[in-house]
Amino acid sequence: MIKPQSILNTPHKSKPKEMDPKTEHKPHCLILPYPSQGHINPMIQFSKRLAHKGITITFAVPQGVLTSSAAGNNIAVETISDGYDSTAARVDADPREHLLSFKTAGTESTTRLIEKLREGGQPVDCVVYDAFMPWGLAVAKSKGLFGAVFFTQTSSVNVIYYNVFKGLLKVPVSEREIVLPGLPPLAVSDLPSFIVDPEKYPGALELLVGQFEGVEDSDFVFVNSVYELEEEANEWMKKSMSVKTIGPAIPSIYLDKRIPHDKSYGLSLFKSDDIYMRWLQQRSPKSVIYVSFGSIAKLEKHEMEELATALKLTGKHFLWVVRSSEVSKLPENFADEASGKGLIVSWCSQLEVLAHEAIGCFVTHCGWNSTLEALSLGVPMVGVPWWSDQATNAKFVMDVWKMGVRAYPNDGGVVGHEELVRCVNCVMEGEGAEEIRENARKWKELAKGAIDEGGSSDRNIQEFVSNTMGGAMSKK
Ligand code: UDP
Repeated sequence: MIKPQSILNTPHKSKPKEMDPKTEHKPHCLILPYPSQGHINPMIQFSKRLAHKGITITFAVPQGVLTSSAAGNNIAVETISDGYDSTAARVDADPREHLLSFKTAGTESTTRLIEKLREGGQPVDCVVYDAFMPWGLAVAKSKGLFGAVFFTQTSSVNVIYYNVFKGLLKVPVSEREIVLPGLPPLAVSDLPSFIVDPEKYPGALELLVGQFEGVEDSDFVFVNSVYELEEEANEWMKKSMSVKTIGPAIPSIYLDKRIPHDKSYGLSLFKSDDIYMRWLQQRSPKSVIYVSFGSIAKLEKHEMEELATALKLTGKHFLWVVRSSEVSKLPENFADEASGKGLIVSWCSQLEVLAHEAIGCFVTHCGWNSTLEALSLGVPMVGVPWWSDQATNAKFVMDVWKMGVRAYPNDGGVVGHEELVRCVNCVMEGEGAEEIRENARKWKELAKGAIDEGGSSDRNIQEFVSNTMGGAMSKK
């Protein structure tokens, strides 16, 4: 195997080496995502990009997460163990216990999987592991393989947590404003909730900061972002590790269209309703408010009420994703009363919705996938962050990319309906709405250009492919 340092220094090759199928081993990456929707989505898309460029992919998830038919696109799905045998057990588990169990059971079962694949004539060359599972690197190294970490958050958020990891930023943060390299000055309200109030989220800070364990030894550091979106943060991170932005990791049809039939992530942990596209079809362009808080957020009943009141007050059409587990918090009869104007669904194909011309704005929790999807499809946002890095993403949406606004909580800590109405009007029809839409168009083009042939993300992916191919062959 060639040494990590030497692969990093290998100059970029514009085309992968030609392989003779009879004599050459096709490079093989084992992909280890953390089993939540927001982590599986970008890692499956990255896998499709690699597969499209000639890499064999095995996608390994804990039992009960996916079936092999779900992934499609020439991606083999294998099962590893996290110590739990169903999604329900996993969801109910204490997150810290789950992570510990995943580390032990995952290390053992992934090692066995690598051995099984080798014995089956499909040796793995590189393990691409989710940063939530830093044990993936130890597994890769114990088997003499390349290890590549995959971050599902922005490089700007990485700067924050890396400073905590290095002991350069003390937690909990007590200053009103902090200044970190590569980032604009950040108010406390712009910071990830886990470093502001770690006590409130037991185990979360450990997990997020733990993402940097061993990262400097990782052969590649992938980030699902676009270099140009946060150039300074990327440059600063590059001083310490081999950062490669590879985003937006969303289906190709919405961007460069180079991967045939790549229309959806191809797997969902939730069951989608199917009435909403017909409903959207009947609405005029840019008239509908789309509301979704992703796959994890649990709003309080009074927060749902504020949102419901705001949607009613805007007088606009709205499509609101309320997961089945959250429906009981809606005001009584709201769905019936709103039926003239609004549609409530339990899950949808968010990309299809965001790409529809009827959508005028996205009221979002600013989970990074949702933010990047809206940015890639040029949809203005109203950010209502709930936890984790969402406040930082909302800050960038409003003040750096200027393609939306953030709704702020009142003195009681609640985002009130007046504030929500103000923000929706601001992005849909206010004085600044045209500028926001213009910026949204600009970022959409930039995102597409990055992943299209020769763009910054495409070059990074190609460089990895070329190096892995080189490495795989030199091992023979
Ligand atoms: N999503 C979806 N349908 C929905 C709501 C969300 O397909 O009705 C997808 C969305 O496109 C995104 C993911 O779920 O890819 C949510 O990830 P994000 O990082 O935004 O938030 P999280 O769920 O991790 O909080």
